[in-house]
Amino acid sequence: MESSLIKRMKYWLYFLAKILVAAGVVYVLQTALFFFYPVPPPPLPRFGPPPPLFLHDMLFTFATLGVWLIGAGLFSIILRDQRRRCRTCLRRLIMPVRSGSWGHMVTFGRPKTELICPFGHGTLSIEELQITGMQMPDWQPHDDNIWKELESYYPAGK
Ligand SMILES: [Zn+2]
Repeated sequence: MESSLIKRMKYWLYFLAKILVAAGVVYVLQTALFFFYPVPPPPLPRFGPPPPLFLHDMLFTFATLGVWLIGAGLFSIILRDQRRRCRTCLRRLIMPVRSGSWGHMVTFGRPKTELICPFGHGTLSIEELQITGMQMPDWQPHDDNIWKELESYYPAGK
């Protein structure tokens, strides 16, 4: 019971683990920047404590924005990687097949790309045109018994 729950949650646990690792990387980068950045002498005349570096020191501010950019890039890579993984076994989906055609949409349908799990757990279908905002790719899990589907195409005894 518990193992099946973990099995089902594996996909999201993996996503969470990647997010946590990326957050850790960004945190370490920001801490290192704060720790190693040479503190400039305070402006004269001095009134009160020195101002914080962020927004008062241009180089430090841009370095902080750079760290933020790295974080955003990591997040984007994580999302992209997660979308193209099998929901059951986490392996990367393979064999992209493009189908559909704009010129012959009535015959072949809208253009989309389909990827499958190397172990046959399911098919991911990604629409080429994202016209109503970001469309989530469609995941179709396959039956456990792949032979059943195969036999349905070629009925025995024909
Ligand atoms: Zn799989």
